[in-house]
Amino acid sequence: MTIPFWRRWLSGAGVGGAYEAAFSQSPHGMLVVDGRSLAVRDANPALQASLGYKLRELRKMPLAQIFSDDGGPPEALLAQLRQSPEMLLIETGQRCRSGRFLYVEVSGYRLDVGNRCLYALTTRDITMRRRMEAQLLEKQQHLDHLAHHDQLTGLPNRLFLAAHLPGAIEEAKRSGSMLAVLFLDLDRFKHINDSRGHETGDKLLKAVAQRIRTTTRTDDIVVRMGGDEFIVVLKTVATPEQINETASRITEALAAPVLIDGRPLVTTASIGVSLFPRDGSNMGELLRQSDTAMYQAKDRGRNNYQLFSPVMERKLKERIAIESSLRAALQGRQLDVHYQPIVDIESHRVVALETLLRWRHPSLGFIPPDRFVAVAEETGLIVPIGEFVLERAIEDAARWRAAGSMTVPVSVNISAVQLQRSDLPATIARLTRMHGVSPNMLQLELTESAVFERRESRNGESAQDAIARLRELGTRIAIDDFGTGYSSLSYLKKWRVDYLKIDRSFVRDLVTDMSDLAIVEAIIAMAKHLNIEVVAEGIEGWQQLEKLRQLGCPYAQGFLLARPAPFDLCRRYLTGQPLDLTVQHPSGYQLDATGS
Ligand code: C2E
Ligand code: MG
Ligand code: MG
Repeated sequence: MTIPFWRRWLSGAGVGGAYEAAFSQSPHGMLVVDGRSLAVRDANPALQASLGYKLRELRKMPLAQIFSDDGGPPEALLAQLRQSPEMLLIETGQRCRSGRFLYVEVSGYRLDVGNRCLYALTTRDITMRRRMEAQLLEKQQHLDHLAHHDQLTGLPNRLFLAAHLPGAIEEAKRSGSMLAVLFLDLDRFKHINDSRGHETGDKLLKAVAQRIRTTTRTDDIVVRMGGDEFIVVLKTVATPEQINETASRITEALAAPVLIDGRPLVTTASIGVSLFPRDGSNMGELLRQSDTAMYQAKDRGRNNYQLFSPVMERKLKERIAIESSLRAALQGRQLDVHYQPIVDIESHRVVALETLLRWRHPSLGFIPPDRFVAVAEETGLIVPIGEFVLERAIEDAARWRAAGSMTVPVSVNISAVQLQRSDLPATIARLTRMHGVSPNMLQLELTESAVFERRESRNGESAQDAIARLRELGTRIAIDDFGTGYSSLSYLKKWRVDYLKIDRSFVRDLVTDMSDLAIVEAIIAMAKHLNIEVVAEGIEGWQQLEKLRQLGCPYAQGFLLARPAPFDLCRRYLTGQPLDLTVQHPSGYQLDATGS
C-alpha cells in the first residue's frame, strides 16, 4: 500500500506518529481530499468501516458518490469546498456500500501541505439525532393538527380560523377582492340533542360538516366553531350573487334528511353573512357582524340566510338588553297580565278570558310579548315566566269567584319550550289545588308547532303525552294562530283538540280577499265536521264580525269586541250580560292596541 504523500510529509516533519494515531484511531470518520480536484486522497479506518469501502475504492469515487443530500449530490458541501473555505460545517448524508443511508455532520478545514492544498474532513454520524428530530417534528405537527382541528368532524377549528382568517383578509386587501364570512348555526339543534341524545347529535354534526365541505370550494375555509356553529370563509368573492349561490347551496344540501341509525332526521340552518371590506376590516368585526346577521336569520323564521346590515346591530343590542333585564323583570314585579274576552258571536256574551302577558320596563316602557317571548324561550326563562302567568290566571279566577263575579274559563298561552321543559300537568294540578280552582276552568293555547313537532321533553314524554295528561285533568286545549303552522287534519282528530283560534292574518282581509275568505270558510267547515270549536282572532271591524257570523263561526276575539284589560278593569266583562259594543273603551286600553 502506498503511503499518502501528506503522511510522508508529516513523518518527515517529525510529528507523524501522533497525527497518524489521531487519524487512524479516531472514532469519527476522517477524509482527506484534494483541494483542486476534490478527489479522495485518504480515509481513516473509521470512515472505511462505516462506508464499507476500502481506501483504494474510495480513491476512485467522486465525493458525490460518497455523500448525498437525501439522494441527490451534496450540493452545499461541494459548493463550500469549491469556495475553498477556511472552516466548514455542514449536514449531509452518507451513502454506504450496503445501501444504508446515514445522516452525517461534516466539518472540515483547509490543510496547506507544502505547496499543495488539501481539505481534511471529519464526519460524525447524526442519524439518531435526525431521526429523533423527525419524530419530534411529526409529533409536533400532529399536536398542531389536533390543536387546530375539531376531533368530532375533522374540520379546522376556531384556532385555525384565528391563524388563517387575518391572512385571507390581507390577501383580499392586496388583490382588491371581496371576502365573505358565513356564520352558520343549526336550527333547533339543542332540541335534537335533548330529545334524541348526544350520540345522535354528534352523528348529525358529522354529516352536516361533510355536507358543508362538499358544497364549498377547496380553497374556502370551513370551520367548526364549537357546538352547532360553523364558519365558512369565501376567499375571493367577485359578486354578491356568488354568496347567494353558496348560501343556497348549503341550505339545500342540509335540507335533505340525514339518516341516523336508520331514522331520518331533518335539520336546517340559519346563516348570517358579513362582507369584507363593506361590513368590517378585520376578523373580529367580520365575525361579529356575521353573528348578528345570523340572529336576524333566526328571527326571520330560521332556515334562511341574511346579509349583515347596520339596522341588525341595533336590534341585536336591544335583544341583549331585553335578555339581561328580563330576569330582573320577573323578580321586580314588572310583569303583569291583562285579560281579553273571547265572545259568543251571536249573543255577545263573554265565554272565556285570554291571559296576555305584559311587561312594563322601567326605562324602555311597555314591551309587547312578541318582542320578548322568543328571548325568554331561548334563555329558558319562559318556564318561570309561564308559571307566573299560570299562577296569576288561576289566582285571579279564584278572586273573581270570591268577589261573586260570573266565572268563565281563563285561557293561558303556553310556549312549546314550557311544554317540553317543565312538568306542566303537575304544575297545573298543584296550582289549581292550591287556589281551589277546578282545572276545567283553565284552557291552554298552544301553537301548532308545539303540538305537532315530534319532540320529546326532558323526561322522555312527547308533547302529545303531556297534552293527554292535561286533558285528563279536565283542562281544555286550543290550537292558537291556526293556519300559520303545518297542522294536519289527522292530528287534529287524533288529539281531540277542543278549539282552534283562526289566526289574525286570515281575519284581517276577510271581507276583501277572496282567498282569505275561502280559507276561513274551510277551517270553520272542517272544525264543525271534527266537532272542534272555532274562535276567530283579531276582529276589528263590524263587517268582519258579520261575515264570520254568516259563516257560522261561533266565537270571536278582537279589539272591536273588547280590548285586553288589567284585572281591576275586568269586572265589566264578567257581569254575565252581553257586551255593549257601542261603548268606547277607556283610552288606557289603547296601550294594548298599538303595543307602544
Ligand atoms: P296570541 O296568543 O295570538 O294573542 C292575541 C294577540 O292579539 C294579543 O297580542 C292581543 O292583544 C292581540 N289582539 C287581540 N285582538 C286584536 C285585534 O283586534 N287586532 C290586533 N291587531 N291585535 C289583537 P299580544 O298581547 O301582544 O300578544 C302577542 C302574542 O304573544 C300572543 O299571541 C301570544 O302568542 C304571545 N303571548 C302573550 N302572552 C303570553 C304568555 O303568557 N305566554 C306565552 N308563551 N306567550 C304569550
Ligand atoms: Mg293566544
Ligand atoms: Mg293567536
